[in-house]
Amino acid sequence: MPDLFIGGTWTGAHGGRTREIRCPADGTPVGTVDEAGPEDVAAAVGAARDAFDRGPWPRTPAAERGRLLLRVARLLERDRAALARAESLDTGKRLVESEYDLDDIAACFRWFGTLVASGDGGRVVDTGTAEVDSRVVREPVGVCALITPWNYPLLQTAWKVAPALAAGSTFVLKPSELTPHTAIGLMRLLAEAGLPDGAANLVLGSGPGTGAPLTEDPRVDLVSFTGGLATGRRVMAAAAPTVKKVALELGGKNPNIVFADADFDAAVDHALTAAFLHSGQVCSAGTRLLVQDRLHQRFTEAVVAGARRIRMGGPFDPDARTGPLISAAHREKVERYVAAGIAEGARLRCGGHRPDDPALRDGHFYPPTVLDACTAAMSVVREESFGPVLTVERFTTEEEAVALANDTEYGLAGAVWTGDGERARRVASRVRAGTVWINDFHPYVPQAEWGGMKQSGVGRELGPSGLAEYQETKHIWHRLTPRPGGWFS
Ligand code: NAP
Repeated sequence: MPDLFIGGTWTGAHGGRTREIRCPADGTPVGTVDEAGPEDVAAAVGAARDAFDRGPWPRTPAAERGRLLLRVARLLERDRAALARAESLDTGKRLVESEYDLDDIAACFRWFGTLVASGDGGRVVDTGTAEVDSRVVREPVGVCALITPWNYPLLQTAWKVAPALAAGSTFVLKPSELTPHTAIGLMRLLAEAGLPDGAANLVLGSGPGTGAPLTEDPRVDLVSFTGGLATGRRVMAAAAPTVKKVALELGGKNPNIVFADADFDAAVDHALTAAFLHSGQVCSAGTRLLVQDRLHQRFTEAVVAGARRIRMGGPFDPDARTGPLISAAHREKVERYVAAGIAEGARLRCGGHRPDDPALRDGHFYPPTVLDACTAAMSVVREESFGPVLTVERFTTEEEAVALANDTEYGLAGAVWTGDGERARRVASRVRAGTVWINDFHPYVPQAEWGGMKQSGVGRELGPSGLAEYQETKHIWHRLTPRPGGWFS
């Protein structure tokens, strides 16, 4: 069956191009998918445009749109096992993590479905006269280009698809070329749930061949992109000539600040999860550990001991606690950052070389790595390696901790660990990031906005603002009894 979904029809790529997908854990072939090019992108945008301008979806009542999203949530729950398996084969991540993702994905559809069904009916503006009905309403933004990365393929897709459909917008989705399978699965579920033809379209392919033409097409109203900073800048530039709206969810170099009065065991445990979950391939990973001087030695030793115990393995290995990196090229990038850090004076405390275990030989594995004695000037501290690499810096005062935390072009997330509630609130309010955790790391809920300050992005996903990204605001002024204004008479 062909893999591109355009105007409600499954179709092959123009010119018959295909791409083979291999599991990053052992290189086994997972499948071969159609590879779209600019002609397919143009057809998909045309279908989404037509569905928006003439189709039923933008004119479907909000309550009905909400009900469709709830149906999709139920279908995701029905197909949880198969979709989780597909996600793990594409990404190499542990099956249990893909299963957690599937639960979050269903919850995301359920939340946006319920939110939009509750309807706001517009905001009435008081004009001081009963002769005018003045109202501010929300309308769908139009045709959306949704471009997503490979680390949480279906989750990042759900964060865009659910609010876009809730709003009544139509879209063309382009997932990462490395992880296409769950996007195909989602399109099938949307069709099964009864979404009208053309409201959802899928093109698979490379960034330059498929993503770039999407960002340039004048028929697209909004580009919602999740990915790296360099690509985000290109997307923003490509959207500029036609002044498309852009929503960008980019990278992070997220500080994890530990004061000496923190709960030691909890802080160590979460420092490991913060940095090494999914082998560090998490935008909000706590890759910069900032530890107060007098705790530094004991804390770093405990983190290093914990990092050494993390067992790597494939998606279906029940003893594995983390999986491989996504590709050979990505592992080489991580290796370059570690080498640069050491050359710039960092002290390697654990990890730092490919595993010797022959069972891991065919995968892109790289072990949890801790670099101590780091400084804010080092490239491994400043730039996102997007691998299992934790850098450790020390501070003495609260002022210093905040300054170090904010010494980055990013502003996605961060955490503070302390037993002093006042200090926790002070530091949380001063860290320039879209999400700050106190005595925790990583939790999020669909009700709360997610996104970045500074160069971590533009706009917000999830929460009511996540729906607003896919809406336009319109003011309607209605004079109930028409009469001449008399200005020129
Ligand atoms: P990426 O290389 O920037 O790619 C992201 C998406 O953009 C992929 O679908 C990619 O296609 C596509 N793309 C590449 N070049 C393009 C172009 N010129 N025009 C349009 N699209 C283009 O990022 P990644 O390596 O997949 O993902 C990792 C990054 O995502 C990290 O920086 C991470 O922090 C960030 N991220 C952020 C969040 C957040 O919520 N803020 C969440 C998850 C990930 P191909 O894959 O086919 O090249």
